This record gives sequence, C-alpha cells and structure tokens, in this order.
Amino acid sequence: ATPMAVMVGTGLGATNGILFKNAGALEDATKLDVIVFDKTGTLTMGQPRVVEVVAAQGQSDDDVLRIAAAVERDSEHPLALAIIERADGLALPEARGFRNIEGKGALAEVGGETVLLGNRRVMDEEGVDFVELAREAERLKEDGRTVVHVAHGGRILGLLAIADAPRPTAKAAVAKLRERGVDVAMLTGDNEGTAKRIAAELGIDIVLADVLPGQKADKVRELQGQGKRVGMVGDGVNDAPALTQADVGFAIGAGTDVAMESADVVLMKSDPYDVVGAIELSRATLRKMH
Ligand code: ADP
Ligand code: MG
Repeated sequence: ATPMAVMVGTGLGATNGILFKNAGALEDATKLDVIVFDKTGTLTMGQPRVVEVVAAQGQSDDDVLRIAAAVERDSEHPLALAIIERADGLALPEARGFRNIEGKGALAEVGGETVLLGNRRVMDEEGVDFVELAREAERLKEDGRTVVHVAHGGRILGLLAIADAPRPTAKAAVAKLRERGVDVAMLTGDNEGTAKRIAAELGIDIVLADVLPGQKADKVRELQGQGKRVGMVGDGVNDAPALTQADVGFAIGAGTDVAMESADVVLMKSDPYDVVGAIELSRATLRKMH
C-alpha cells in the first residue's frame, strides 16, 4: 500500500481501538487463511468461576475447597483465583513447597502429604486413581466445564467444575470470519471434551486441545507448513511465542503485557470481533493502492 493509505488505515484502526504496530501487519492481515483463537481469556471472558464441587466418598465440598485453595494461594493461574474466591470464608490449612506444573496443574504439601491439583493428564501421570469420579468428570466436561481434580496423598478428594463465559461477540466474530473465507480454529491447554463443547457453541470446527504452553507456537508452525497464512489471537504469557510465530499476532488488550509486546496488532477493546474489523480495514487499505 502507499505510505498515505497505510497512514490512513492505521489511523482509522487506532480510532476504533485496533492498534497496528507496524505497516507490514496491515498488509499481511489481508491474506490470512486461518485465524487461531486461544480459548481462555480470548474467546472467553477469562473470569472463571467455580460452579460445582463434587466430593469423593467421605469428603465434604468444603474439605475439597480448603485443600485446593490452600495450594492455589501460591499460584497466579486464573483457575487458581477462581478456586480461592470460592473458598472465601473457609479457614485454609498451611501449604508448603508450592510447585506449578506448567499447563497441567500444581502441587504442594499439606499436613505432610502432597496435594496434587489439575487436569486428568496430570492425575494419570502421577498415578492418582480417580475412577470413583471419572463419570462425574465426563459429565462436567460435556457441559463445557474445565475440571480441576484434587488429590491428597495420592487419593482423589474431589472435583472442581469451572465455567468461563464466552465473550458476547465471539460467536458473531467466528461466523463473520468464515463468511469472509477465513477458517477459524481454537487452540487451548484445556482438555478436548471441554474445548470441543465450547467450540461447538461458537461455531468453531477445528479444535487443537491439550496443547502445552511450549507447544502453541509449534501448532501455528504446523499450519504454516501446510501453506496456510496464520493469524493468532491470544491474551496469555503462554500465547506469546505463538503470537510471534503467526503471520499476524493479535493480542487482547485486557491480556498480559507479554502478549501485547509479542503481537503485531493490539485489540484495545478486548473484543474478538475486532479481528474482523482489522481484516476488513487491511483489505480496504490495500484496495486503495490499486
Ligand atoms: P489455557 O491454554 O486454557 O490458558 P493452561 O495451559 O494454563 O490453559 O492450563 C491447561 C490446563 O491445566 C487447565 O485447563 C487446567 O486443567 C490445568 N491447570 C493448569 N494450572 C492449573 C492450576 N494452577 N490449578 C488447576 N489446574 C491447572
Ligand atoms: Mg488465554
């Protein structure tokens, strides 16, 4: 595009809360074949809430919450905040030696025994038998809940079902992108059952789930290897490498600083529909030079 058209285009974007950090992004955004959306905090509000507690035999809901919150007090994960909030008013035991298990969960010692929190994968890896609650876990995932398993001393204590509402415009954004001939995918560290349910609600048919934080950029690279030009939209620290890898990285304005630094475009209103706006703006800008 001519320098003038680019100036007008980026200016128009900025007025509408779509910040193009470089002229190249404005041009590249015209050619995207697929937009990959992170789930939590990007397609969803990123304000998870514990909506159900399922206790194992002999445990109370409060027991499960107390133990889980004691560990999550030392975590900065959005799910941890939801759990601490739900445990508000309960006396928490002391937890020591907190350790984050990247993309899977967390652990710490409570009362001399290890508390393990997290997804199904981490329970399998640590040999926790959760068969007693496996059906409940499946039911919750089918409802689109993220399930946090809670184990103490190698024994399952309960499940915490966490919900995070979709952003109000997420579904319309997906529909409009597809109408414009752009494919849409979801990329998440969450489990496949939960991810597929939320994707179906939003009209997304490509779901890349159970992806560890370090693998998100690889997934983008794989799509590029198939000859696709990829736009990535994300908010988290764990999205930063994928935002850099993508042909155009879009950061959610309410997200982390790292995501915004790694992106080419910042969506100041944290509105996924602004990806459509960015693409339309770039297409209009490029038409002006012909
Ligand atoms: P996302 O890609 O949705 O941001 P993450 O990669 O951060 O998710 O985490 C993937 C999954 O690992 C979560 O859905 C959750 O099941 C589990 N997990 C990670 N950290 C924690 C934690 N601190 N407490 C409980 N579960 C966790
Ligand atoms: Mg996220």
